[in-house]
Amino acid sequence: MTTEVLPPLPLPNELTAAFWDGANQGKLVIQRCNACGHFQHAPEPICANCLSFDLGYAAVSGKGSVYTFCIPTQAFHPWFEDKLPFVLAVVELDEQPGLKMITNIVETNPDNVKVGDRVEVTFSPLGEGFTLPVFRPAAQ
Ligand SMILES: [Zn+2]
Repeated sequence: MTTEVLPPLPLPNELTAAFWDGANQGKLVIQRCNACGHFQHAPEPICANCLSFDLGYAAVSGKGSVYTFCIPTQAFHPWFEDKLPFVLAVVELDEQPGLKMITNIVETNPDNVKVGDRVEVTFSPLGEGFTLPVFRPAAQ
């Protein structure tokens, strides 16, 4: 008998629920300040640009560039053992300079990924009702 290994799962809270709800609906939703329009990720209780507490969320284009990446060769959790090697990346979103998120690059050979590559969001079922926004090479 084998036991199903679940991935490490998020624990949404009032700041992060919109991100996870959006992902479940196939949208990349990022926190945005209602006062100045500044995007920030991960979500925070205050705007890092203008110090407003009036924060909302907005769907973004899902387009961006690979800012940096690595290719793990050892699983830090049993769920990842059959997924090696994969691309763990920081993607900078087009909406704002410096707006970055940690993600995976999928649908490509890890050896072909380069800093600066154009990527677009796609969504990967994570299990237990969660969907993970990940990125693939952008269509030309
Ligand atoms: Zn602001």
